[in-house]
Amino acid sequence: MHTGIEWDQMVVGLGESGHAAACHLADAGHRVAVMDTRVDPPRGAALRAQHPDVPVITGDLDERLLADADEIVLSPGVDPRHPALRAAQRRGQSIIGEIELFARAVNAPVIAITGSNGKTTVTRMVAAMAEQAGIDVAAGGNLGPAALSLLASQPRAELFVLELSSFQLETTVSLQPQVAAVLNLSPDHLDRYDDMAAYAAAKARIFRHAGHAVLNADDPWVRGMAGDAAAVHRFGDAAPPASAWRIGRHHGDAWLMAGETPVMPRDALALPGHHNALNALAALAIGEAAGLDRDAMVTALTAFRSLPHRTESLGWRQGRQWVNDSKATNVGSAIAAIRGLEGPLVLIAGGDGKGQSFAALGVALAETGRAAVLFGRDAAALADALAGHVDVTTAADLDAALQAARRVSRRGDVILLSPACASLDQFTDYRARGDHFRRWVEALPHD
Ligand code: ADP
Repeated sequence: MHTGIEWDQMVVGLGESGHAAACHLADAGHRVAVMDTRVDPPRGAALRAQHPDVPVITGDLDERLLADADEIVLSPGVDPRHPALRAAQRRGQSIIGEIELFARAVNAPVIAITGSNGKTTVTRMVAAMAEQAGIDVAAGGNLGPAALSLLASQPRAELFVLELSSFQLETTVSLQPQVAAVLNLSPDHLDRYDDMAAYAAAKARIFRHAGHAVLNADDPWVRGMAGDAAAVHRFGDAAPPASAWRIGRHHGDAWLMAGETPVMPRDALALPGHHNALNALAALAIGEAAGLDRDAMVTALTAFRSLPHRTESLGWRQGRQWVNDSKATNVGSAIAAIRGLEGPLVLIAGGDGKGQSFAALGVALAETGRAAVLFGRDAAALADALAGHVDVTTAADLDAALQAARRVSRRGDVILLSPACASLDQFTDYRARGDHFRRWVEALPHD
């Protein structure tokens, strides 16, 4: 049935990117409306204050109202398999995302970065390199600020560096990145994809119209994703081609190398873990493809420090080192953190496992793990997977898990919060989970 109201665009989801999309469209004079399934969407008040004329429709997605839009702008948090959206697809309606709107509007070069893990770190590294090289750079995307907010706040930026998630890539068709990178692929979001191949296909979309493709040469899923990019650059460590960005030896020390050329000593990087050395290699490969000066890149990498919630050391209390890796929301990222830290180690993990298998986590913990303390919705599934590799304790919530971790640890141990799970069963997001951890640790007596 036709409602008689017609929208150029219907934005579905009023979080950060939906808000940015609605403002962008309203500012450009489009007739735009917004839908959100939540009674009080996170950016509702902000949108009302800026654009009181834009209607916000809450409650389950209304198929009739969707049918009246020329185009649907879907937020990454909304599952496109919702029946109302499936019906829109069947009708042949255009369904895009905020990044597609950005791609249509941007004039400056774009660097686009995706992968299961390390996206934010590499995005920040590349932005720091560009800044060091004297470029007016804007960085954001999935990590925030939303791409369209960057375009509004830094309209004269000479370069945009965007972190993109697979969900954002699914609804993007015309982005033409100067450089696009896929860092790695490990199981994640399998509650939203039928299988790994479908998840990989969403990530590979980043290369569709890319000038330069940057690929992880070690990753069996990523290796073959070159797409139709004009130039392909590889980084890796296991068995990279001779021309790749890799970790090699120079005068007996580990160095980050461009093929046979030593570029910077591994130890000049302040970030812990092998995964961060690979992140630095990826950033160098991306920066070089974008034409950045090598000295500026090395200066920026040398000054780069851990980002909050990403293998971030909170220091020593009660003879233990406390490390906040709340951003580790899948098994691959938790394994990277475990391997990157020197044990003995007590792992605190748990939350919403998003349908992952936890088997590989047990194997990784067997090397340096003293114990694992598991909490949240999937604590029992984690306990099943880890028992046999390491001592296991379960706890109702993070507070109880922290008490237990203190009890089972010894002086000299690392206590690592690297949950391998999403936080949404008990927290608003990974930041709230990491902040809770930090506050608890800071309240401990110093010795
Ligand atoms: P993303 O933005 O992809 O979530 P981040 O840079 O925020 O990635 O890092 C999130 C977590 O992933 C870190 O806390 C760390 O545990 C892990 N991680 C970072 N880089 C890598 C990598 N290259 N490979 C595997 N895990 C990584």
